[in-house]
Amino acid sequence: SKNAGKNRYSIFNEEMNVRQLRRMGLENDLRQSMDTNQLFIVYQPKWDSQHDRLVGMEALLRWRHPELGLVSPGEFIPIAEETGLIIPITYWMIGEVCEQNLNWQHELKVFVPVSVNMSARMFENPLFAGRVERIVRQSGLSAEYLELEITESIAMNSMEGTVEQLKHIQSLGMRVSLDDFGTGYSSLGRLDEMPVDIIKMDQIFVRKSDQSSKQAIVSTIIAIASNLELELVAEGVETAEQEAFLQSRGCYLMQGYYYGKPMTVEQMNEWLKEKVL
Ligand code: C2E
Ligand code: CA
Ligand code: CA
Ligand code: CA
Repeated sequence: SKNAGKNRYSIFNEEMNVRQLRRMGLENDLRQSMDTNQLFIVYQPKWDSQHDRLVGMEALLRWRHPELGLVSPGEFIPIAEETGLIIPITYWMIGEVCEQNLNWQHELKVFVPVSVNMSARMFENPLFAGRVERIVRQSGLSAEYLELEITESIAMNSMEGTVEQLKHIQSLGMRVSLDDFGTGYSSLGRLDEMPVDIIKMDQIFVRKSDQSSKQAIVSTIIAIASNLELELVAEGVETAEQEAFLQSRGCYLMQGYYYGKPMTVEQMNEWLKEKVL
């Protein structure tokens, strides 16, 4: 009936409003989050499953909202990107990660690179690489212990200067890894020209690695990494079965809940004492 249609319409409208209001609220609150210590960093181990040793960590951003509690990165990162807030947040994060990594080196004698995720927005600034260089130098951390993760769309971006910025980063001794590999629109044909050292195979291939069609893709990604002499990390490894399958195809570097979830510094210190030291 006409009425039912009208009701549906207004319910739809209300949902839209709830969503838009939440978004607008989050956008406002995110502006204050940095100054009020609501943002913090968690660290997830990268594990060499062949030699049973820690080979790195990924730094991931968390936001504890005073009323809403933890807001998922899937919700707030896009807002941070659209508003440009991701830019100061990322520079802050690089500084924090350098400082924390130095602490692990000094206090626990743990020496592994820690990676930070880069939004495309970082590369809009031609001074990006120079700014990263300065932050790292001021921290006193040796550049080889910082890694940047970029997505395929950044790597394949013909944006003036992106490749040069990445080469600048590499020339300092930092490594660049290509995140979520296999999900982007990128043409494989140019992967060899990209300034990247590592590829991270997206979780989707690991999660569905019981399907033979996905197994074929996993094998192909492993062959590509090997032929281009790129290091390969499998993401999202949750089970012994997934580990065994990846190993059987020649992939040994892993990241996922099976080895360790993203952890606060305190949790990571405990984890390191238990698993690594
Ligand atoms: P990502 O860079 O692909 O990060 C890996 C995501 O997979 C993380 O989600 C991590 O918690 C999750 N993960 C790790 N192991 C497993 C596993 O075994 N199973 C499952 N199901 N998930 C696993 P998180 O922390 O929620 O981050 C989601 C995305 O948000 C990240 O995906 C990244 O794109 C973005 N993000 C997070 N922190 C930052 C940041 O500091 N800067 C930027 N630009 N983006 C960030
Ligand atoms: Ca990442
Ligand atoms: Ca990823
Ligand atoms: Ca992602």
